[in-house]
Amino acid sequence: MTTYLAKHNPIYTFDQHHQPVLKIHSGETVTIETYDCFKNQLTSPTDRVDKLNWDQVNPATGPIYVEDACAGDVLKVTIDRMKLADQGVMAVIPNSGVLGDQIKQPMTKIMPIKDDKVIFNERIQFPLRPMIGVIGVAPKGEPIPCGTPDSHGGNMDNTMITEGAILYLPVQVEGGLFALGDLHAAMGDGEISVTGVEIAGEVTVTLELIKAKPINNPALENDQFISTIASAHTLDEAVQQSVQDMVSLLKDKLALDFATLTMLFSAIGQTEICQVVDPLVTARFVLPKWLLQQDNIDFI
Ligand code: CA
Ligand code: ZN
Repeated sequence: MTTYLAKHNPIYTFDQHHQPVLKIHSGETVTIETYDCFKNQLTSPTDRVDKLNWDQVNPATGPIYVEDACAGDVLKVTIDRMKLADQGVMAVIPNSGVLGDQIKQPMTKIMPIKDDKVIFNERIQFPLRPMIGVIGVAPKGEPIPCGTPDSHGGNMDNTMITEGAILYLPVQVEGGLFALGDLHAAMGDGEISVTGVEIAGEVTVTLELIKAKPINNPALENDQFISTIASAHTLDEAVQQSVQDMVSLLKDKLALDFATLTMLFSAIGQTEICQVVDPLVTARFVLPKWLLQQDNIDFI
């Protein structure tokens, strides 16, 4: 049985003091309805991004309390299905994004979704590449705005967080307090002009606890890859942390010394950018899954 969680009364911070909107047990499946990152405030090209109510940007639906979850557990989030609305939106704002100094006017662009394609304009259409921008649990300390990524997850804007992937989140407070939002119909790594094709929708996830398995940061696996995800003030720091986390996760399992392990990672691992435009930037380190499969090793 799948519980349905409607998008009303979203949260704008990941906060251990938020009241849960739903309590579930480990192993349950929930379909979560979401607004887009502008809380659906931009629905036509004449809706101006500079006139937005910024208190209503980056809503996430939740939080969901998972019974028996406590700090030091892992919340295993299997992304069973994503369903998108029939229209997406992008926007630019002067001085925002990697070439923001060259943007002179705010602009809103509405894009219909048809036949699994984003209709960017009459000439340019491209395939849907659905992903989840904001997904996480509550941090143990101060509340963190939904627009900021960190070790709790949050606005990681990672193109690998999509249907079929399994995301591992470090539980930091009782119940975990899981939430998600900010779906994208498509986004390039980096998210260079600050938005993907922002879109409302529904995500079906199965939430399971892995007890007493402390991890530092989010990690992910799919059919082909395993990945660690880290956010920091600079890309250099994020890259370093993501590699460090992969070393920590696999060092004992692969039974290799540190130097040999880093050579292996250097030979077959990919350092990739998630996003460079949020308050912290996010990188991921990605390894092919055969590395674990040949010895039947679990990633987490
Ligand atoms: Ca985002
Ligand atoms: Zn977004």
